[in-house]
Amino acid sequence: MTAPFRTPIVAGNWKMNLDHAKGVALAAAVAGRRADAAGVELVLCPPSVYLVPVVAATNAAGGDVAVGAQNAHDKESGAYTGELSPQMLTDVGCRYVILGHSERRTLFGETDAAVNAKAKAALAAGLTPIVCVGETLEEREAGRTDAVVTAQIQGSLAGLGPDGLARTVIAYEPVWAIGTGRVATPEQAQEVHALIRSLLPALSSAEVAAKVRIQYGGSVKPDNAAHLAACPDIDGALVGGASLKADDFLAIAAAFSTGGCC
Ligand code: PEP
Repeated sequence: MTAPFRTPIVAGNWKMNLDHAKGVALAAAVAGRRADAAGVELVLCPPSVYLVPVVAATNAAGGDVAVGAQNAHDKESGAYTGELSPQMLTDVGCRYVILGHSERRTLFGETDAAVNAKAKAALAAGLTPIVCVGETLEEREAGRTDAVVTAQIQGSLAGLGPDGLARTVIAYEPVWAIGTGRVATPEQAQEVHALIRSLLPALSSAEVAAKVRIQYGGSVKPDNAAHLAACPDIDGALVGGASLKADDFLAIAAAFSTGGCC
């Protein structure tokens, strides 16, 4: 049986960085050189206040670079001061939303159940959720990586159904690798990606499981992307720090465009 083709997807999580002018300039630079990463889906996730101008900047360059939010609420509207609904995000041109990032889980107390409700709401609004999972260093060192990631996958993706799961992107981001400069080895990453894929048939079907894209995130840089990209179950990257520079972000995406190397 030939391996299923999965379009690689590389997303930049700008977190709470940049300003209006720098965000628009970065989006324009990435979109203008989009051809550097042919065949790779590119997504930029700016702070929510810059979503509208970043959508405008990417549209001005042809609209072939998608824009995503870094979070969303699970309700369509209502008395939820400070929150944004998935419908509001699609209304302004967003196509993706990052959900359950470890910083949201740790700093803002998001549980798997909350991530699950948000993922369902995002799908209902027509967004593609990028659902993040990953173990802490303490959990890895205690030999609990598989148990932790399994619980996160089963809790965060419960009840999405085959159609919902097929439209969902998963990001495996070991917490100890996020923003630390300490990247998982390709072997460590591939092992958890394979575990995640092995859990998906029970949530959908074998066919859907083979199609779901699983990104790796955690200190991905131009000099380590190619080895990660060469792993069979790593279908792209969720990039933090290196997504703030067009050259670095595009170099990472280019590694996935060519399929990486060993
Ligand atoms: C992230 O925030 O999702 C991330 C992976 O950050 P970094 O690339 O900076 O480790």
